[in-house]
Amino acid sequence: MNPAQHTQPRAIVVGGSLGGLFAANLLARNGWDVEVFERTPEALTGRGAGIVTHPELFEALAAAGVAVDDGIGVRVDTRVTLARDGTTVSARELPQTLTAWGKMYDVLGRAFPGVYRTGAAVSAVESHADHATVTLQDGSTHRADLVVAADGFRSGLREQLLPSARLEYAGYIAWRGLVDEARLSPATHAAIFGKFAFCLPPREQILGYPVAGDGNSIAPGQRRYNFVWYRATPDDALADLLTDASGKCWRAGIPPGLIRADVLADMESAAATLLAPQFAEVVARTAQPLFQPIYDLTVQRMAFGRIALLGDAAFVARPHCGMGVTKAAGDAVALARALAAHRPVEAALRAYSAERVQVGQAVVEHARHLGAYMQAQLRSEQDRAMAERYRTPEAVMRETAVSRQF
Ligand SMILES: Cc1cc2nc3c(=O)[nH]c(=O)nc-3n(C[C@H](O)[C@H](O)[C@H](O)COP(=O)(O)OP(=O)(O)OC[C@H]3O[C@@H](n4cnc5c(N)ncnc54)[C@H](O)[C@@H]3O)c2cc1C
Repeated sequence: MNPAQHTQPRAIVVGGSLGGLFAANLLARNGWDVEVFERTPEALTGRGAGIVTHPELFEALAAAGVAVDDGIGVRVDTRVTLARDGTTVSARELPQTLTAWGKMYDVLGRAFPGVYRTGAAVSAVESHADHATVTLQDGSTHRADLVVAADGFRSGLREQLLPSARLEYAGYIAWRGLVDEARLSPATHAAIFGKFAFCLPPREQILGYPVAGDGNSIAPGQRRYNFVWYRATPDDALADLLTDASGKCWRAGIPPGLIRADVLADMESAAATLLAPQFAEVVARTAQPLFQPIYDLTVQRMAFGRIALLGDAAFVARPHCGMGVTKAAGDAVALARALAAHRPVEAALRAYSAERVQVGQAVVEHARHLGAYMQAQLRSEQDRAMAERYRTPEAVMRETAVSRQF
């Protein structure tokens, strides 16, 4: 072994999505020798859809050494709410930059100087007195001074460390999708394309905004419109939606290509009946819609000896605050800061946990508050009426995906 490797502390990051890449970049810039283990066999490009940015996200990108220019996303200045007939019922100025999951993955991946291993599924992790170990599914064991568990909302490492922490289904799902700008009619394009738009018929909530298109292009004509449509869905109906044409129920999430044709047809016909025509068009012209059940998850601690939980592996917040990526980035910044300020690693992780558990809890709580209307849809008539009373277009536009101090 090269003597320099003895002195440089070594970190293994489990999970090479955005949270893992933020941590990997920040640790590498702070003198750590970092290796990322990602279980997916190929690069993750093309995943996901739009990501709302917040000032903290740009701060984290800068700290990770990513130069941010205008190409990072599409800027919008206005929010509008459309009525069922397509007319505008409310509008407000709210400048914001919308980026895409693929764009973030690309810039963070290119900035990372360490080793990024794909097809490396981690099955176990252990913290010892002076090191930690990670075991892969192929049986190999790897040693490090620090392990960052950034393995997402169904984190196997969290399950091992905190078996009692459970994802709680919130009673509704989010249909999502992306439509090419060029596929939209001129009227729909003019009404919503350059805007963060909402439509709030009784029991429903859909929002949309423009994002980069193929190859992360933000050139006019090549962008896409991203939609998120929340729909109340009881447990039994969810099980049906998660069941493919062969009868297999994909409890942990159905691959988009396996969503049954009748499920997609029902969703499209509900869009045509319930939503403003512009949104119905966005939904109908989306090539591959997908849906995600909405969950909450909180933990009491994020540090286990030399192992740190980070991002969705620790706290899962409903998407209403648009904070998933920003929260993970903030975790990574705090982790690097704590490791620079405290020795040994265990003490640094305790300081990190104390700081970020509070933030995670606040984000989950705020997102629950913003999602209370959707959750009320499976309750009594009275609960629904009460929830309706507080839902005005102004309040929804003011609070959704807007940054605040956590
Ligand atoms: C497919 C997908 C699409 C998304 N789209 C959006 C979006 O459009 N907008 C938005 O705001 N947020 C989106 N998110 C969520 C957002 O990416 C997260 O909130 C944010 O990136 C923080 O997530 P994370 O990195 O903590 O976890 P995740 O993004 O869930 O990543 C976890 C990673 O860990 C890997 N992994 C899991 N288990 C193991 C293991 N045992 N060994 C090795 N690797 C493992 C997974 O393959 C995955 O790459 C998406 C997430 C995913 C997975």
